Amino acid sequence: MATYPKVSALDGGHITLPERLFITDADPTKRATVPSLCFLIQHPSPSPISPDRTANLIFDLGVKRNITAYTPAQQAHIAQRQPVIVSPDCADSLRNGGFDPSTDIDMVILSHVHWDHVGTPGDFPNATFAVGAGTLDLLANGAGYLYPKELFNHDELPADRTVEFPALRDDGPRRTETPGDTRAVLPVEEGNWEWEKLGAFLNALDLLGDGSVWVVDSPGHLYGHVNLLVRTGDKKWVYLGGDCCHDPRILSQEKGIALYEDGRGGLRSVHVDTETASCTLEGIRKFVKEQEEQGVEVEVIMAHDGVWRVRNKERFWPGCL
Ligand SMILES: [Zn+2]
Repeated sequence: MATYPKVSALDGGHITLPERLFITDADPTKRATVPSLCFLIQHPSPSPISPDRTANLIFDLGVKRNITAYTPAQQAHIAQRQPVIVSPDCADSLRNGGFDPSTDIDMVILSHVHWDHVGTPGDFPNATFAVGAGTLDLLANGAGYLYPKELFNHDELPADRTVEFPALRDDGPRRTETPGDTRAVLPVEEGNWEWEKLGAFLNALDLLGDGSVWVVDSPGHLYGHVNLLVRTGDKKWVYLGGDCCHDPRILSQEKGIALYEDGRGGLRSVHVDTETASCTLEGIRKFVKEQEEQGVEVEVIMAHDGVWRVRNKERFWPGCL
């Protein structure tokens, strides 16, 4: 019988979102304190990243527990997202379930590098970091008026243990080549990582080489945004959607993506490219539908879904999905 990876949810702090910036037809005064969810994926088979035990991957690191470690511009932005709850953070949540973040985690994949997803990378000194193409360039240089470099920490990720997935487009920050003397340890050789079609997903990458964990290109929210699709059973996938949307009612099409003034006479949304973000959501809907037609369930979980968190308490580490 095949064995599948196990996925556990982890608390990675909480932030507060004003509804009007996220969903259409919002109550202009309503604010919701929502989780910044992280996930632990335990793969049962030994692999190059963990020859002696399960391979332990983390998807997203949530909020930093030390707010002063953010840049001054980030702290000014964070002041508009209060209350922010920093405890437990991702490392605490791992410890609470019996894992030591400093030794037990082999790989960290970040959906993207907004402040509420980068967490505290220094807590994972033995992990290889894997991020979407252009992420390191974005952290160092920013990307235009709405994404100035002051909103990022240039040394957020360990340069000698970080690998970017292959580039798919050339209209944003540029992909950084992995240095020749990298200390990153990958489950398969980097040269064997290839984007391929997986059902409705135009670009998916078989992270471990056995079809159990897929990185899914999910553009629109921020440069380098990726999702993770994990096969947790014969008839079950778990889809970790990061910030594809910030409210599950957008995925279900009960609400739309909010637009608001960009400060220069135009309109923006919380996404770099609203149209592309909409297409990414449509891809997720299509994938769920086509899998359902084959009798396979796809559970989609967005990073800031507070309703999911309340309803799924027992599926947090050391529990699992
Ligand atoms: Zn984000």
